[in-house]
Amino acid sequence: MPDVIRAGIVVTGTEVITGRIADANGPWVSERLAELGVEVAHILIVADRPDDLEAALRFLAAEEIDLIVTSGGLGPTADDLTAEVVGRFAGRELVLDPEMEAKVSAIIRAFARQRGWADEEALVASNRKQAMVPVGATALDPIGTAPGLVVPAGEQVVVVLPGPPRELQPMWPVALATPEVRAVLDRATALYGFTMRMFGVPESEVAQSLREIEADGVDLEAVEITTCLRRGEIEIDVRYRDETTAVAAEVRDGLVARHPSETFSLDGETIDEQVATLLRGHRLGLAESCSGGLLAARITDLPGASDYFNGSVVSYSNEAKADLLGVDPALIEARGAVSPEVAEAMAIGALERFGADLAVAITGVAGPGGGSEEKPVGYVCFHARLADGTALARDPVIPGDRSDIRERSALVAMHLLRVLLGGGQELET
Ligand code: ATP
Ligand code: MG
Repeated sequence: MPDVIRAGIVVTGTEVITGRIADANGPWVSERLAELGVEVAHILIVADRPDDLEAALRFLAAEEIDLIVTSGGLGPTADDLTAEVVGRFAGRELVLDPEMEAKVSAIIRAFARQRGWADEEALVASNRKQAMVPVGATALDPIGTAPGLVVPAGEQVVVVLPGPPRELQPMWPVALATPEVRAVLDRATALYGFTMRMFGVPESEVAQSLREIEADGVDLEAVEITTCLRRGEIEIDVRYRDETTAVAAEVRDGLVARHPSETFSLDGETIDEQVATLLRGHRLGLAESCSGGLLAARITDLPGASDYFNGSVVSYSNEAKADLLGVDPALIEARGAVSPEVAEAMAIGALERFGADLAVAITGVAGPGGGSEEKPVGYVCFHARLADGTALARDPVIPGDRSDIRERSALVAMHLLRVLLGGGQELET
């Protein structure tokens, strides 16, 4: 049996509990642990109260956690209690570490002098607390003023890190290098993973596909599959170990087989990265109405945009569509400003105006208030076109409010560009 190392993270801080600051440390440590093949079972957030911190540690111990990582509460003030509580949890008394005291006081003195603070000695005294180390624990040199700790606690090893992310992050590799943490991590078997991305398929269908794959005899329990809807795309994260490599491949192949045209990425590559590559050597012009220039903003963020992006006409009014893009007012009158025909005329106008070889046009009903039964709010017409007349058109109804519709419109356009330029990944696996 491979040994799966389980970890728990305890984020301390009343300011995190109250929502005054958002927790940056839990997710950061969690990602680092996942990269090491460690299974993170819990992230607990507790207030700066010793009983609550101790309860969190006890809970994790009862859950057969191997590694506990704490953040925060290492400062000099009275509410900074982590070292004391972890020491008690580990059954280890706190003693003054003279070497650490010297290091901390040198840091404090330099700090006080730099700021011209007079009462250096009082500061040094109040920081003495930070040099208290549980017997048998390893102290990690401070990045700011607070040392970190690695504390063996029976079945667990507790890594105690400071709260400020700019201190916690550089201390992490130092903690990993300690023999105590090494010993835990060496029991872990390597964990691998890949991220697939799909567009244009509901999450429920992906769930259904996974059930079918399971019914076909693939042991989904053997791997870890996380699906999440992110900005209109579905991200499927598959994690596996050496002995479950084949299962992971079956999951990937099963999903691709069921969603061949919706799957656009097998290795985590984003639509923006793909489109940036595909646009090289082209001249792109845009014509946007309801998306209000959001597609242009997204394109300008792509690497190399200045080489292939010419510009965008944001033509909201009918007059602008006629004057700036040469759309025939009679066409607008006959078909309506939001129509596949006007989208096509806008794209042709953008090709001409920008001297482009590739154009995308977006015109839609973004509401609120607008819309009719035939063309409800969210009805958006897209037209992507090459100078040779090759074109791709769509006219979906996009759910959500004005800003959802705008954002999704830009995303749909990115995917149209990908398909029109024959991009996306080779999906034969
Ligand atoms: P210090 O010596 O700075 O007091 P500390 O280890 O005691 O270090 P805390 O008192 O818990 O850390 O937090 C200090 C500051 O660090 C917080 O005010 C906050 O700005 C930042 N911080 C703490 N925890 C987090 C967290 N989980 N996510 C983001 N920022 C945090
Ligand atoms: Mg503090």
